[in-house]
Amino acid sequence: MRASNSIIISLSALLLLNISSAQEIITTDSHNLEVVADGVYFATGNGTLYTMSNALIIVRDEDVVVVDSHITPAAGRALLDSIAVVTDKPVTTLINSHFHYDHANGVPAFGDIQIIGHEYTRAKLTGDPMNEQTFVASLARFDRTLADLESRLDAAAGDERGEIQTQLEFWRAHVSAQGEIDPVPPTVSMSDRMTLYRGGREIQIHFFGRAHTGGDVGIYLPAEKILFTGDMLLGGISYMGDGFVSDWAQTLENLKQLDFELILPGHGPGFRDFERIDNVQAYYRDLTEAVIDMKTRGLTAAETAARVDLRAHAETLGVRNLGANLEAVRRMYGLIDGTN
Ligand SMILES: [Zn+2]
Repeated sequence: MRASNSIIISLSALLLLNISSAQEIITTDSHNLEVVADGVYFATGNGTLYTMSNALIIVRDEDVVVVDSHITPAAGRALLDSIAVVTDKPVTTLINSHFHYDHANGVPAFGDIQIIGHEYTRAKLTGDPMNEQTFVASLARFDRTLADLESRLDAAAGDERGEIQTQLEFWRAHVSAQGEIDPVPPTVSMSDRMTLYRGGREIQIHFFGRAHTGGDVGIYLPAEKILFTGDMLLGGISYMGDGFVSDWAQTLENLKQLDFELILPGHGPGFRDFERIDNVQAYYRDLTEAVIDMKTRGLTAAETAARVDLRAHAETLGVRNLGANLEAVRRMYGLIDGTN
């Protein structure tokens, strides 16, 4: 799940300025496949259907490993179609970076294959994933987007109508694709570390500690020095509504011990300017300290979310307004109180 607050929106402009150095990109019907190493492709949706999250495709001697499956089975099938453009080897293994709907709801498209995830991810996906608050909130958001486009279409005239109609069809297809969702948990779980050696490629799966969820894993290719981070590390601040913000900076400190030259996040472009990691660590530390202080002084979560001052991160992270994400602060209060 990507943060949807204004901080992240302003960050996306920064991210566009810092796309990883030019690589070959293979365009399919639904994806851009960036060749990040020989036989390794960073898959991002090209806008023809709603994929929401990024995926990684790792081709081995005899088969293919995929990291993350997108937001719906339809998007997962489109990813499989894109993989078929670059290799005819079968996809035998899927790794879940974390349990969030926008990375894991495409799993049914992959059929009966090995699915690897952290034991926390398995617990979440064998629990009640259709009622997870982050997923439920997203459904409401999609419905609002549809309603907004429908009312804009009513009011629009001329060329604008065509553009709105195209967007409406895109979102209607996504909302109808939700009907197919049937969460599938990992068939293999791990706790701290797991390494796949098959087929001429070493693929390490690392749990560095709690961060964006209780079970984020990083997928590391030591020979290629590439790390796919899911949502525990984006180009800027991640969604914190299911996070462990007070642990997050240390988790990223653990992540930094690996020798990588390219970070591929769960949303947004890859990057090589690693001071971004220091910047978000500083933000999570400052937010933690401020929330504890304001909660101790008796402020409610809503008051803290409105008043906390993190504008010291304006230069590095685009935090130009007073306040922080309310879901994040509520989550932090709940963790301190032991209510979530
Ligand atoms: Zn997420």
